[in-house]
Amino acid sequence: MTSDGHDDAEAGPDGRPERPRVPQQGGHDQENGRRPDDDSPEQPLPGALSVQIPDDLTFDPPFAMPEPPQWQDLWREIGPGVLVKRHKVMDLNVTLVLGDDRCLVVDTHAHDGYAEELIASIRSVTALPFVVVNTHAHFDHAFGNAAFLRAQADVEIWGHEGCRRDLEELGELQRRLTVQWMRESEREDTAAAVEAVTIVPPNRTFTQDTTLDLGGRHVVLHHPGRAHTGHDAVVDVPDADVTVVGDIVEEGSPPAFEDSFPLEWAASLESVLPRLRRNVVPGHGDVVDATFVAEQRAQIAEVAEVALTLPAGADDMVLAKAAVRLSIGRQAGFVGLQRALATRG
Ligand SMILES: [Zn+2]
Repeated sequence: MTSDGHDDAEAGPDGRPERPRVPQQGGHDQENGRRPDDDSPEQPLPGALSVQIPDDLTFDPPFAMPEPPQWQDLWREIGPGVLVKRHKVMDLNVTLVLGDDRCLVVDTHAHDGYAEELIASIRSVTALPFVVVNTHAHFDHAFGNAAFLRAQADVEIWGHEGCRRDLEELGELQRRLTVQWMRESEREDTAAAVEAVTIVPPNRTFTQDTTLDLGGRHVVLHHPGRAHTGHDAVVDVPDADVTVVGDIVEEGSPPAFEDSFPLEWAASLESVLPRLRRNVVPGHGDVVDATFVAEQRAQIAEVAEVALTLPAGADDMVLAKAAVRLSIGRQAGFVGLQRALATRG
């Protein structure tokens, strides 16, 4: 892995970043959910590790506008001392919160190479010791943990109790399915790198709201209920007016339902809506706001409503027909309906 660029094989066929999907066992091949109308040409990237924080930033950028590609792979300050790096690879967001004594890193990327690159870019911003939070157990958010542990032996890695359990009990299965899926889509380098990862679960867990002191500022870890997974974590940074929500919200692509709880997801988002700050960092895509989250909540609620009208044994043909009507999109909707029936109990 060179330091100045990412594995081109990560890009989708049209050069747009391909979203990670945790493949279901025996499941349907879930394409990434690129917007069909998005045919923006790929732009050459500026130096991957450079930091651009304008001195006169007002913290009032037009986040409703599509993010220009030159922001990719650069730290962008979205609130005082809160930076987001939107990776070209997987369109993954990593958030960095700077305290006086420690910095918080939200999510660690997918393997040692990506995480080491991420650490180098963090070190170009701050020399503070890290604290890590995993928003959930999926490989693109947690398989970089080992690199952070190597870089700092006493690193606290926080996650919901269910995140730790998931990585301990199902991490190897997730790795196997992910590697298989990458090989099938001819991404051998990434597959080999994921195969080589030492899976490191969080060493600090929470179930109730938990406050972390970064020195001069506090962040709060919150579990909003089951949604994208059974153990999603939301990170609130009150003094910067920022909330980091992980994959319970996605921008630029429909949310991923493979490990989700579609019948509870909308309610979890409903409960989190009043807590959201001005800027909301999704797990993938551009920074959004509460209005965007409310709209996505409505689309997810629609999946649940339609699922509840289907008979328990509905076959794939029935699901596919029902999914066509869903505003979240046919492919995401299909998986959402499938998961809704599987988790309906
Ligand atoms: Zn993700």
